[in-house]
Amino acid sequence: MTGASVNLPEADTDIIAHGADIAAALRAIVPDGVVSDSAGLAAFDGDALTAYRQKPLVTVLPRSAEQVAAVLAYASAHGVPIVPRGAGTSLSGGALPRADGILLSLTRMNRIREIDLENRCVVTEPGVTNLAITRAVEASGFYYAPDPSSQIACTIGGNVAENSGGLHCLKYGLTTNNLLGVELVLATGERLRLGGKAPGAGGLDLLGVVAGSEGLLGVVVEATLRLLPKPPCTRTLLAAFASVPAAGQCVADIIAAGLVPAAMEFMDGRCIAAVEAHCAPGYPRGAEGVLIIDADGLAAEVDHAIVRIAEIARANGATVTEAREEADRARLWAGRKAAFPAMGRLAPDMLCMDGTIPRRALPVVLARMTAMAEDYKLGFCNVFHAGDGNLHPLIIFDVMKPGELERAEAFGAAILRLCVEVGGVLTGEHGVGVEKRDLMPAMFTDADLAQQQRLKCAFDGARLLNPGKVFPTLSACVEGGHMHVKDGRLPFAALPRF
Ligand SMILES: Cc1cc2nc3c(=O)[nH]c(=O)nc-3n(C[C@H](O)[C@H](O)[C@H](O)COP(=O)(O)OP(=O)(O)OC[C@H]3O[C@@H](n4cnc5c(N)ncnc54)[C@H](O)[C@@H]3O)c2cc1C
Repeated sequence: MTGASVNLPEADTDIIAHGADIAAALRAIVPDGVVSDSAGLAAFDGDALTAYRQKPLVTVLPRSAEQVAAVLAYASAHGVPIVPRGAGTSLSGGALPRADGILLSLTRMNRIREIDLENRCVVTEPGVTNLAITRAVEASGFYYAPDPSSQIACTIGGNVAENSGGLHCLKYGLTTNNLLGVELVLATGERLRLGGKAPGAGGLDLLGVVAGSEGLLGVVVEATLRLLPKPPCTRTLLAAFASVPAAGQCVADIIAAGLVPAAMEFMDGRCIAAVEAHCAPGYPRGAEGVLIIDADGLAAEVDHAIVRIAEIARANGATVTEAREEADRARLWAGRKAAFPAMGRLAPDMLCMDGTIPRRALPVVLARMTAMAEDYKLGFCNVFHAGDGNLHPLIIFDVMKPGELERAEAFGAAILRLCVEVGGVLTGEHGVGVEKRDLMPAMFTDADLAQQQRLKCAFDGARLLNPGKVFPTLSACVEGGHMHVKDGRLPFAALPRF
């Protein structure tokens, strides 16, 4: 295991010793979908949090919910940890495998089962990519609103597990706001349906709990997603600012004026330069920051919103231009979506942070991050979903230079603590995973964390699903009246409990 500052649970050498038996048992369930050779496993050794790498014990690629249920029942009977995986684009290490665990790759479950335009929804398998949903319905005038920048690759199962957002979540919400139902396979192999096409299922909102549960509660094998009609009119403004805090103030003023743009994205001067060099979308090079703002809806309401937004931006000192042609709009947004890859021009390595703050704190937080960068002697760029205060500072460094990775992680942790200090949260959309696990006590009390763990135990008493993620300390499920002890062995006996 290579890695940085987060310690993961020790691998169980007994399970590792039985790797060949486990692979053989999985082959009996999924004959054409088991990878157990070292070269093959290298393709599954991590996700987009690239500082952490670990080959799984074995990878299995089921094609059906029945196969997923059989794999989980087998793992449960033998006490083998399971890490679910979609496309592996998690930025928080959520899909990081375990040396003693089965990696359950859902990418071969990639069929859209039903397009139901009367009920404005689709029913899909978990391995379908986010973008494929919109592609399947756009000719009929519909689309799927959550649009992570990774949408060409990331899967619906991963989106549900991370409660993913994207550029247009300011107006249309995160995955949880667009998720109508799921079928979940529990760690024991039992299958559970939550929600569905009919609204108001009654009972406790377990669907809300599953959205954002980071693969800790069950494996999503089907999702029912809300479709929206394509808005009849969309207009896009580019506002260029001479200072970053002025852009932050502009965002706060737009929201305070009661306007809800469909998207409002910020990039700072360093990011603009990198993106221009990468794909030349035509951003003004001298600007210290730009906001790209979409307004959508009926033409009359869009026209009104665009005039008001432009007024507010100019009052904050911005130069405002509008993308007149569809191709110009597409170019502006393509530049924003290329912000992460463009960072490769500035440094070999990058950490993408993800914290959310109240919008009124934007100017002060942006200024304090600049001061912090000097303390940590590292470069960074600011790119964020400005409308909902969801920051994505990109810390750039070179892992080959001694100490830079550690400094980058410490800088990232300091930014996230600052988010919590000003009344914000540790994650807006990328999840906790491995990356933010040890920061959870900065935001949650012991009582909060204990209650969340009791919920985990209610779904997965043996703690086999994605262990080592999200919770900084493992507590015994017996405290919630539910502990699975197999053959008298306490799971992860060496770990501290509370
Ligand atoms: C360039 C880039 C841009 C990005 N932009 C955005 C963005 O704008 N907004 C945003 O929100 N995120 C963004 N992300 C993060 C990432 O794409 C999302 O978190 C995405 O939802 C992960 O999907 P995935 O299929 O890759 O899941 P993975 O990375 O494979 O897994 C993510 C988590 O989901 C769990 N999981 C996966 N499938 C299932 C399943 N079927 N059942 C249960 N658990 C499962 C895994 O165990 C893991 O904990 C970006 C990532 C990259 C690399």
